[in-house]
Amino acid sequence: MFFSITELEHHPILFDVLYQPGEISLPEDLRQVGELAAVGRAELLRNTLGEIRIRGRLKAAVEGACDRCLEPARVEIDSRFDLFYRPVVRTANHAEIHLEEGEIDLAFYEGEGVELAEALREQILLSLPMQLFCRPDCKGLCPYCGANRNLADCGCRPPLRDPRWASLKDLG
Ligand SMILES: [Zn+2]
Ligand SMILES: [Zn+2]
Repeated sequence: MFFSITELEHHPILFDVLYQPGEISLPEDLRQVGELAAVGRAELLRNTLGEIRIRGRLKAAVEGACDRCLEPARVEIDSRFDLFYRPVVRTANHAEIHLEEGEIDLAFYEGEGVELAEALREQILLSLPMQLFCRPDCKGLCPYCGANRNLADCGCRPPLRDPRWASLKDLG
């Protein structure tokens, strides 16, 4: 769904849309599971040079690889967003103007408007935790044989400590 300046000049646009997996391009290590739902409103802010505000709510499930065992890890996203897009402004020497620190929800657009799928993609990436886990207590892969320790106890044990340290421990 595309929000064009021309249309926004006349009225805000309400949206209530579903995206099937694949319609929003995600980094290749992530995939959308089931439908993504987005509802909200896009408007052109008055007294600005074409600033577009898109706010709403996004619900989706995204799957990536567990950081500990590499099995699929799913994240349910249910987040509200409030994004501001400014038209790209180029200075005389065509350098882009950069963001001030702290203006985190401000982005730029080029051309006739903003594509909702692009905004949602950004929002998905912002909503993901730094690390994905298949479950909070994932035991990960065995560092000795590589077995998935959630599935079975492979029986590997760390090498025995130096016996001299063991005797020191006995003293304590
Ligand atoms: Zn895991
Ligand atoms: Zn093992």
